[in-house]
Amino acid sequence: MVFFFKKFMTIILDFILPRRCLMCGDFTQQDDVTYTFESVSQPSLCGMCWQQLSFITKPCCLNCGASLAFDGDACRSCFNKAFIFDSARAVLTYNDTGKIMITRFKHGGQTGYARLFAPWMRNIALNFFDDQDLVNESNWDAIVVVPLHPFRFIKRGFNQAMMLTQYMGIPLPVLVKALRRVRHTASQGHQSSDDRKNNMHRAFVAEESYVNGKRLLLIDDVMTTGATLNECAAALKNAGAIRVDVLVLARAIRA
Ligand SMILES: [Zn+2]
Ligand SMILES: [Zn+2]
Repeated sequence: MVFFFKKFMTIILDFILPRRCLMCGDFTQQDDVTYTFESVSQPSLCGMCWQQLSFITKPCCLNCGASLAFDGDACRSCFNKAFIFDSARAVLTYNDTGKIMITRFKHGGQTGYARLFAPWMRNIALNFFDDQDLVNESNWDAIVVVPLHPFRFIKRGFNQAMMLTQYMGIPLPVLVKALRRVRHTASQGHQSSDDRKNNMHRAFVAEESYVNGKRLLLIDDVMTTGATLNECAAALKNAGAIRVDVLVLARAIRA
């Protein structure tokens, strides 16, 4: 009886609150939905859009998080690069569909995407660092988010990496004052690897009182050459951090 009542209520609620794909607006079919506040407000994707994303699975590059075709330690894009952060992991390869979604989120103000992406990032944070025995959140003391320069923050209205971190809900302190962007850097979209490195040089300052002796999880939305995250890690380690692991939503690989 309870089963039939639940089924009936699901059909009614499906009619009143149809679940649509955040990306294309199509209906999403989910047979086992239990209607709670979280499930109704949690954005989802249809099967077609889901398939167009490129989720990174193992094996992945231990340095930069890029997807690897074969088991190994490092990928071609970071071969011979010495990152200052200790390791990096990413949820997605930054392909065309991923780029559209992240652009809508970052530049289009469609902040609902943060609630779509954040559980994926949480899953990676809790399960994907195990190559180094970093099995769960107890391996870090705190989270640090890549900051925006105040000018850009005012223009955008939010820090996308901070919003992702808030929705991830990992029970660790987020050190919002630990890292500051002290230089307003040019947009890096079309810059070469060397230009990005010069552009980011000394762009960040970390506060020793917050990070000294800490093991940190550093969060950003997209990693391309790693120049920004490297400068953040350098500032954090200069201020005494003993470990910096990077988690990003997407890893962009230059062709
Ligand atoms: Zn869709
Ligand atoms: Zn790599």
